[in-house]
Amino acid sequence: MRFDLITIFPEFFAGPLDHGIVRRARESKLAEVHVQDLREFTKDRHRTVDDRPFGGGEGMVLKPEPLFEAVESLLGSSVGDASKRSEVDQKTAIVLMSAAGRLFRQETARRFAELERIVLICGRYEGVDERVAERLATEEISIGDFVLSGGELPAMMIVDAVTRLLPGALGNEASSQNESFSAGLNLAAGSPQVGAQRATPLQLEVANAPGSASHESPVTDHPLLDFPHYTRPAEYRGWSVPEVLIGGNHAEVAKWRRAAAIEKTRRNRPDLLSRAYNETS
Ligand code: SAH
Repeated sequence: MRFDLITIFPEFFAGPLDHGIVRRARESKLAEVHVQDLREFTKDRHRTVDDRPFGGGEGMVLKPEPLFEAVESLLGSSVGDASKRSEVDQKTAIVLMSAAGRLFRQETARRFAELERIVLICGRYEGVDERVAERLATEEISIGDFVLSGGELPAMMIVDAVTRLLPGALGNEASSQNESFSAGLNLAAGSPQVGAQRATPLQLEVANAPGSASHESPVTDHPLLDFPHYTRPAEYRGWSVPEVLIGGNHAEVAKWRRAAAIEKTRRNRPDLLSRAYNETS
């Protein structure tokens, strides 16, 4: 996987790229990350990347020319113009970071992990000339319903979320399957994790939701949050770890974890449970 980050602040990424799983993936050549200074694609003495908005209003807008030229130079091919447009390779995504984009989710990370190359365009100021979203980017992505001052942190989040899904990036392969938002923690009756255990009322409710029986994996993309984790000491300031986790009965532990994951999802993200109901049909 190759990531290209296009930014006016190339130094921004020095810390985040140099730690933990992302660092290891780079060292082992699983992931290659190239940081491109947008100003290298300016032609004037002041290296101008922005300009005032047409129609008036606050702030500055990133100009289209340096962005188009930076992407084309990285890809080694032209995206064309209004009279003749060229297609981008299917295995490449050109992603514009944007508060007004589609929401980035774990399923987006899984889709991106199948690609060969992801070019991430980091906006700044008031945003980016809309022709970049319409004519250059293959997707416009937001990392959440809030506005940041630049696309660098969002782009780095995508690099991190996608890199840890690359086969071999995590020490333990199972760990990206049994975590929040992943299929290993879904609600589907008959999924391997539920197995022969007795289903909780909620599992039964969801499994019996209209239409769910006819799909092989009705709620793969609508899973639970991760279950709570505990480590030593078993008692800290008088607060004890749930007894069942210490007992060593694996079936009981699995049952407790599933119930705790459902409870935590209900408490912190009830919307995930209603998505499971609404989208299984
Ligand atoms: N005027 C814009 C916000 C611009 S913020 C609006 O109201 O939607 C400047 C840049 O920060 C954006 O161009 C984008 O690249 C980045 N950014 C801000 N919030 C973001 C978010 N939630 N997700 C992804 N990128 C974001």
